[in-house]
Amino acid sequence: MTASLGGALTEADPATAAEPVIADGPTEDDWDAAVAAVRRLPPDGRVLLICHVNPDGDALGSMLGFGLGLRRLGVRQLQATFPHPSDVPEPFRGLPGLDLLVPAAEADPAPDLVICFDAASVSRLGELADRLTGPGTALVLDHHASNTGFGDVNLVDPAAAATSVLAEELLARLGVALDAGIAECLYVALSTDTGSFRFDATTPAVHEMAARLLATGLRPGDISRRVFDSRPFGAVRLFGEVLGRARLEPEAAAGHGLVWTYATLDDLARHEQRPYVLEALIDPVRCTAEADVSCVVKQAGPQEWAVSLRSKGATDVSRVAVALGGGGHRLAAGFTGRGTVDEVVERIRAELAVPAPGGDADRPG
Ligand code: 5GP
Ligand code: MN
Repeated sequence: MTASLGGALTEADPATAAEPVIADGPTEDDWDAAVAAVRRLPPDGRVLLICHVNPDGDALGSMLGFGLGLRRLGVRQLQATFPHPSDVPEPFRGLPGLDLLVPAAEADPAPDLVICFDAASVSRLGELADRLTGPGTALVLDHHASNTGFGDVNLVDPAAAATSVLAEELLARLGVALDAGIAECLYVALSTDTGSFRFDATTPAVHEMAARLLATGLRPGDISRRVFDSRPFGAVRLFGEVLGRARLEPEAAAGHGLVWTYATLDDLARHEQRPYVLEALIDPVRCTAEADVSCVVKQAGPQEWAVSLRSKGATDVSRVAVALGGGGHRLAAGFTGRGTVDEVVERIRAELAVPAPGGDADRPG
């Protein structure tokens, strides 16, 4: 999500997940089915857009950008939402299309068409999961290799740098021209998921898409400052404290090294900060040259921790996250841990010590 200190992000997507379910991108039949699902909406057809819990730039940006496109197509009964809590993280509060958002509790219970963005499975949709099984059509746009194909129509491309790549293509196939509002949303999505165009998924096609988006008149400097390079002074001081207690364990992760730190609810309270600021904390931690694996453990409740894991390439952190009840990509994954910080980190250490099947540690990232 938010990036920091030169701008990386929390959802890195250059990697493939542990258990690919959908190996190839959408077929022409899939695209045709997706276009047909939109085109056959009745004049007052109701559309609900949803994305994953704790939405990042790609989830929100692809959802809102696509929503603005549907509005241009004349869709009037249109809502966008994501699971509770419904706060939009500060870095995304300037996004066009925020007026489409409603709290999950107010989301249409039975839309004619529900479109789901950037979620690999229904477990990422919280209380909105039941919208996928209603009488309407469920269309899924995603780029996680672990996507379970839970829609009636699935546009899932693990090779895509971001879900917004699929959103842009579907808008083009629907005949919707890019305008500055749509483009800004899709640009935020693309730039966050590629770590400001630094990760391996940054193909020529990604830069070509960025060029199409910028050609609508976007100001990339303003957008990047807002999304990546801005945080309250209290968060700057909080980061200093939390980084000061980081631990380096060179022997962990089969000798590839682990660096980790944690932040508590009390840390947040002392610095008068809200939890979203911690999303960017993984970025300065993962700079550690001596460690392949980096980890930030963020307190969410008395015995509950949201864990972010990153790898530089030698370790499949999605395997670790899946083993501990979460998921993600090979180089960027997460899970919810319970107990004390030390117990959570000890479980991570133990999983990192398990030999990877098929000699994963030798594969390049
Ligand atoms: P982050 O560290 O930015 O929260 O998440 C990194 C990656 O791991 C993202 O692709 C995200 O979807 C995935 N991820 C993070 N937390 C969880 C979780 O609790 N469950 C699952 N299934 N995936 C997660
Ligand atoms: Mn994404």
